Amino acid sequence: MSIITTRLVVCGCLLLALLPASLISGAAETYDIVIVNGRVIDPESNLDGIRNVGITGGTIKAITETKLSGRMVIDAKGLVVSPGFIDLHQHGQNDENYRFKAMDGVTTALELEVGTGDIDRWYEDRKGKTLINYGVSVGHLAARMAAMHDPPEFLPTGEAARRGATDSEIAEMKSTIERGLRRGAVAVGFGIQYVPQASHWEILEMFRVAARFNASCHVHLRNAGIKEPASSIQALEEVIAAATISGAPLHVVHIQSTGGKATPQLLKMIAEARARGLDITTECYPYIAGMTDIKSAIFNEGWQDVFGIDYSDLQWAATGERLTKESFERYRKVGGFVAVFSMTEDVVEAALKDPLTMIASDGILDHGKGHPRTAGTYSRVLGRYVRERHILSLTDALRRMTLAPAQRLERRVPSMKNKGRIRIGADADLVVFDPAQVIDKSTYDVPAKYSEGMKYVLVNGVAIVKAGELQQGVNPGQPVRAPF
Ligand SMILES: [Zn+2]
Repeated sequence: MSIITTRLVVCGCLLLALLPASLISGAAETYDIVIVNGRVIDPESNLDGIRNVGITGGTIKAITETKLSGRMVIDAKGLVVSPGFIDLHQHGQNDENYRFKAMDGVTTALELEVGTGDIDRWYEDRKGKTLINYGVSVGHLAARMAAMHDPPEFLPTGEAARRGATDSEIAEMKSTIERGLRRGAVAVGFGIQYVPQASHWEILEMFRVAARFNASCHVHLRNAGIKEPASSIQALEEVIAAATISGAPLHVVHIQSTGGKATPQLLKMIAEARARGLDITTECYPYIAGMTDIKSAIFNEGWQDVFGIDYSDLQWAATGERLTKESFERYRKVGGFVAVFSMTEDVVEAALKDPLTMIASDGILDHGKGHPRTAGTYSRVLGRYVRERHILSLTDALRRMTLAPAQRLERRVPSMKNKGRIRIGADADLVVFDPAQVIDKSTYDVPAKYSEGMKYVLVNGVAIVKAGELQQGVNPGQPVRAPF
């Protein structure tokens, strides 16, 4: 008996010597930041209760009901503490855009639909200079524009928008995609509707490359709406087939703006394909208008029929004016962003009600001009659709803003296993918001307005929003990138 006791004591002493003081007493450690008395919601463990959270060195170190001490104390009484939101679809990737994302609770903004052709340069341009975490896909559009020597624009307007590719051009696109994936691109992006002459074989070839790297294909479908032939249903069949043949994971972007009235059918198709074991996910944003470049192929002959709308359903972003045949033709020659009022509230609500849709903004602001979704998507879901209309529950909304997008990417980007969760060891990307107050303020006329209700936003353990105020001179954002 005494021998055993001695051994235990010896082992205990060794253990004590190896452990940091914090784990022994719980009271000794002073954390960098503690968030106290908040309603902590973690979609992974299903925790939903009042807890104190301790953060040191950019990592969550404690989640407890006991008292914690910290150099900075955030009193979150009456507030929700959630993982920071992960936006899988944010085109605007500069300081202006990151500020609006931060005030909407976004701690990681990823440009996965259009992407880029030069992964190294894209990450290098942002290194150490960003408020929030950032990442990018390698884009089929960029690869196609390069192969066809188009001017380097956001969306194709030259040869790439207008003609089929030769075999050697397809081979060149494949090598651009492969090079990007070898340099750590998060995913492969597609905007098939912007390159209507891209053959089904061309798209399938790109999926084959993605599959070799476990990279999800983030696809803006070839067709919109319900009108056959060339409906969004047929377009979804194309990429479900490509995913099945190639084995690449598929993520369908902004399902409600592409699907329009067909949105419930598209969601049903995705649910059925998933039930057969295919790795297919999707996303939506909570607005009845989309936005794109008026010069793009989306406005080729027949667009009114495709969307079921007319000139007056288009709003020119720069001035806010509704268009006519004359102004449409004038602006189409110069190019620029136009809001497309092609959806109804029923469509948006159907997309939000379905537990399959993640929330993603499709945002871009340029000198204050753009779509209100850039600044308002997350607060609008939480304020308008959760609190006011009860379309989805708070916990489900948060899951679709945090855990679900993290899980979408973690097979290729293992570091995403430490995002979208409030777990010991996870990255301290956190939002503290007032569920009774949170609301979007951006509008189609004034898109650059901060959301309200995000009281604190932490990125890698650094407060970028404090007491509702955006902080200056802090750049804690880190790259999200696949191992390379
Ligand atoms: Zn799109």
